[in-house]
Amino acid sequence: MKKDTEQTRTNAQAMNIRAARTIAETVKSTLGPMGMDKMLVDGHGNVIVTNDGATILREVDVSHPGGKMIAEVAKTQENLCYDGTTSTVVLSGALLGHTEALFAKGLHPNVICRGYHEASQMATKYLQDEITMLAEGRDETLSVAKTAITGKTLEHSLDQVAELCVSAVEQAGDAKSVRVVSFPGGSVNDSSLFNGVIVSKDFVIEDESDASEYYHMMLINTGLDVEKNEENVQVQLDAQSYSTYKSAGKADLISRAKEIVDAFKGKVGIVFVRDGVNDHVCAYLKKNGIYVVRRTPESAMRAMKRATNSVIYQTVDDIEDMTMTKVVREMHNDIWYLFVHSNHKESKEATLILRGATTHTLEEVERGFDDALGVVSMVIGDEKVVVGGGNAYARMAVYLRQHAAQVGGRAQMAIEAFADALETIPATIAENAGHDPLDTILELRHRLMDGDLTVGPDVENGGVCDMLKLGVLEPAELVRQAVLSAAEVTNAILRIDDIIARRGVE
Ligand code: ADP
Ligand code: MG
Repeated sequence: MKKDTEQTRTNAQAMNIRAARTIAETVKSTLGPMGMDKMLVDGHGNVIVTNDGATILREVDVSHPGGKMIAEVAKTQENLCYDGTTSTVVLSGALLGHTEALFAKGLHPNVICRGYHEASQMATKYLQDEITMLAEGRDETLSVAKTAITGKTLEHSLDQVAELCVSAVEQAGDAKSVRVVSFPGGSVNDSSLFNGVIVSKDFVIEDESDASEYYHMMLINTGLDVEKNEENVQVQLDAQSYSTYKSAGKADLISRAKEIVDAFKGKVGIVFVRDGVNDHVCAYLKKNGIYVVRRTPESAMRAMKRATNSVIYQTVDDIEDMTMTKVVREMHNDIWYLFVHSNHKESKEATLILRGATTHTLEEVERGFDDALGVVSMVIGDEKVVVGGGNAYARMAVYLRQHAAQVGGRAQMAIEAFADALETIPATIAENAGHDPLDTILELRHRLMDGDLTVGPDVENGGVCDMLKLGVLEPAELVRQAVLSAAEVTNAILRIDDIIARRGVE
């Protein structure tokens, strides 16, 4: 009986580990500046070409529970740090890979879990205390952006993209506040930063002869339409009273619209309305030189308010004045956009306009920008960086090997295995660039022990070189999170000793 239970345990565990390692192997070849892309195709022939670990794992059909857990950890890394997803997955795969040798030596999964946990704590403490450096200026932040972009479609426009990302985050405050709009056509080099808000909406009534620039606008949070519930009430009226009733409603709407016309004082302009606007009202306003944009998204309303220092009027009665600012109407790919410029220097509204030749490349451009904006925002936030290229991982490995003996016991073996797994990151970066991973690791260890603390894999020439001189920097938090998440998911997988089918929800 005992043997049976033992058998299921090892089977379930082995299957989980195998599934998780398969997933890690899939994304491994995309790691680093020389990483390759993956082409993902679904049953309908839709194609995604990407180098982004989280995207690959989101799209591939991961059916095994062990594999799912790894895909989950990539998502967590992306949510917390925007970047470093492939590293986290590759590290998880390596940690799981080393468990097989530890099992063979007779270590119990619990002992491995304890050792791995201890190792992740020791390594990340060392990372924070000894490896982390302060990003001293804008150049360092630019380097962090460039490190995130290297190896992606955006690489050809490295300097320009890094500059755009840093400027966007500097202006908006953090990555989440940067608005991103993409227009197919042109190349990445044509991407730019727009100081204001882009609304993908057009006027309700428009003419061929409409101007493309406007200088006055107003924001209204309510609608200018008959109340919805009024339309559903049943009243019995004769034809005469019905037309009186109808025209009374219309007259009321027009009289409310007149307030808007008065506020524009004869100037041509645009009114952005949150809700619906009756067609008669639109026609009336248009006759008076006021163009209506109805059903403007809430987020756009707020962003325009901030960009132009204007008031969002809650009702027509509150209207006091229009706002002076430049609004440009432009068509991209058959869709009209309104570019609302900021009218004051302190405005934080930053919109990145991304350009790419095709929708496929543009999507990958967006993902690249997303990573870069994220890491820039992390560094502008806490100013802490580490040397990239797997240098920080290799340094943690050296430290762990030196200190594993202090822990003693069997857990010591797990800590040493953890150190080996950490070195998979620089080894894979070298391997993907066509260099021998083992030679690279041996040289890296040797140089680090000699006190060359900033070396990493030289992807151009093989061997190692100074990563700091090359400007390969990344947020310290990204590496810390990658190590902690990888250790956690590995332990979670190791603790599972059985897979039991759940009853489906009926
Ligand atoms: P991830 O999804 O983990 O971010 P990437 O494919 O973006 O995976 O690769 C990131 C790794 O490549 C990081 O460890 C980064 O430091 C490293 N890297 C970036 N540029 C260079 C470079 N020029 N030389 C060596 N390593 C680099
Ligand atoms: Mg990356």
